[in-house]
Amino acid sequence: MEAADFASLGLSEPILSALAEKGYSKPTPIQAQAIPVVLMGRDVLGVAQTGTGKTAGFTLPMLDILAGSRARARMPRSLILEPTRELALQVAENFVQYGKNLKLNHALLIGGESMADQKAVLTKGVDVLIATPGRLLDLFERGGLLLRDVRVLVIDEADRMLDMGFIPDIERIVSLLPTTRQTMFFSATMAPEIRRLADAFLTDPKQISVSRPATVATTITSGLVLVNEHDKREALRRLLRAETVQNAIVFCNRKRDVDILLKSLLKHGFAAGALHGDLPQSVRFATLEKFKANELKILVCSDVAARGIDIGGLSHVFNFDVPHHAEDYVHRIGRTGRAGREGHAYTLAAPADKLAVEAVEKLTGGTIPRIAIDGLDPAEWSDEDGRKRGRGPKKDGRDSRERGRSKEREPERKAEQAPRPERDQAPRPERDQARKPERRDRDRDRDRDRGDRGDRGERDHGAHVRGFGENVPAFMLIRRRGAAAAVMDEESGPEDNGSDIAA
Ligand code: AMP
Repeated sequence: MEAADFASLGLSEPILSALAEKGYSKPTPIQAQAIPVVLMGRDVLGVAQTGTGKTAGFTLPMLDILAGSRARARMPRSLILEPTRELALQVAENFVQYGKNLKLNHALLIGGESMADQKAVLTKGVDVLIATPGRLLDLFERGGLLLRDVRVLVIDEADRMLDMGFIPDIERIVSLLPTTRQTMFFSATMAPEIRRLADAFLTDPKQISVSRPATVATTITSGLVLVNEHDKREALRRLLRAETVQNAIVFCNRKRDVDILLKSLLKHGFAAGALHGDLPQSVRFATLEKFKANELKILVCSDVAARGIDIGGLSHVFNFDVPHHAEDYVHRIGRTGRAGREGHAYTLAAPADKLAVEAVEKLTGGTIPRIAIDGLDPAEWSDEDGRKRGRGPKKDGRDSRERGRSKEREPERKAEQAPRPERDQAPRPERDQARKPERRDRDRDRDRDRGDRGDRGERDHGAHVRGFGENVPAFMLIRRRGAAAAVMDEESGPEDNGSDIAA
């Protein structure tokens, strides 16, 4: 079902004119289905991913519901729970844009912002409170917030909340709210645990499912380059130079490759930045802003870091690695070629990626056109399955991507809960130790990288980290910080320290 226009959904004039200004002519399927139901006051169980327009699906009717009355001090009238700071900021942006003709205010309760400022806004009374769970509970426990006036609750990206270990917090928060309320619950998937929560939180909900079809928009020009592992960076540079790139995301399968690739691109003069879960949120946010302002043309990302971030409408998407899970390919390249605009998606496949490429082509139902890049050594498919290099499905039924995700998201959760200054400034012996196995992998990869390059004359020093890189032994950081810094300056230079990239 797709409504002809927003007016037929029952939205008020101030909202319709804000939408017209924004240039939205037609509601998306989830909006067409959700908006009338929410306006009627019913609970909603939405199975939908980011990119379907679900945020407007709940913000638009909420604005109309809330427009009738005013908020009291410290007692927000509605609450939206988001798993990450970035998503919370996007929702807030939506409220500002769609609610520009209404006199409603919102507050954000997210990590990385001053708690005192957030408290001050709440004291004035807010209509919409947009929060990440940890920070919300923190402020509640300090007595800065009363939740008994919350009449509308949105739990967004529930499956991500589950991945990030937020479910106990969510259950606690819901137990603090009035039982008479309207609840909207969104999740990209309906795992049994998510279904259990939906059953517990919702009353006779209207279920709305909008799947993003596993097809690729026809406005996307795609290509696949089969290239030897050691030629990938060179291949990417050649593609970047040959194409008219306005803005691009380059996806890597692993966090450590995000760092390595960023260094390489910067060294070769590209205006690039990077996002992955280990970077402090302040850095991720600043990078995102620069990318949106077109100060950075290239954003190197892991899937987890990019997920849920509203960066669409890109001229190009590059897969530096073939994703291990075919559906990630569709999500990745869906960031280009939106709204009928032309997009480009290029994938670098290494010899061991044959099966991963076949899985993508099976899912999308078409062959990705092969393209050749002049001047690189010819490459051939091998029988090895790159997805199985210590990363394939294991006995516990969860594959390493899922395990990796939980691990990768852990810092995001900690980042949200820990006061920023402590996290940013403290020496990091525990973190370094915790990373030891990964470090060994990285060293091995680096050695292999060097060996592969042999004497081919590859000058891409950004490809590996000299000196200690970011792996400075913990004892040097603790006992003689100054001396450690001096050693690093001498041996590797500050540009080799992973954290300096981010600064
Ligand atoms: P979401 O799934 O909520 O993250 O939205 C994905 C993107 O679609 C965002 O950039 C929205 O601004 C945009 N969007 C939402 N609704 C519409 C619409 N009806 N028409 C065009 N774009 C939309």
